[in-house]
Order: sequence, then structure tokens, then C-alpha cells
Amino acid sequence: MSMVDAERINLDELMTHESIECECMVCHLPLDEEHGPIEWKLTWRWPGPFPEAGVATMLLCDPCFRDWVDDPEFFGGAAESMHKV
Ligand SMILES: [Zn+2]
Ligand SMILES: [Zn+2]
Repeated sequence: MSMVDAERINLDELMTHESIECECMVCHLPLDEEHGPIEWKLTWRWPGPFPEAGVATMLLCDPCFRDWVDDPEFFGGAAESMHKV
């Protein structure tokens, strides 16, 4: 599946399902903390070698999105694109 197809599916889900879970991959929130509604779509690029070079797109609640963009060095990469959903 191409990157473009994957993005399209995510957007379709957003339209057709009422609750989409936050896809935060490295989360600071306590496990029992409820995530807010999805507000952001963030594409993150890791230069590698750790964890590995690549790109991931996540749908994020607002607090998680801020975690990523406020402290990119912690996550070891950089935002490639971001927009409100
Ligand atoms: Zn998070
Ligand atoms: Zn979240």
C-alpha cells in the first residue's frame, strides 16, 4: 500500500467513525489518562538509525501533538507535516 493510500484510509475513518483513538506512538500520558478528541494529523520523520529511519503519520489529540512538536529532540526526529483535522 502506498503512503498516499494509507493517508486516504485514515481520513476516511475520520469521516465515518465517531471515535478514533489517539495514535501517539511514544506517549507521556499516564496509561489510565483519557486522550482528548483527535485534532491533529502529524507526519513525523526519523532520520535513523534509532529507532530506524522512516516516516510515520499519526492522528493525535491536542496534548499529544504538543508533546511531539514542543520537544522533538526527545523523540529524535522532526515534524514533516502537520495539520488540523
Ligand atoms: Zn501521547
Ligand atoms: Zn493522545
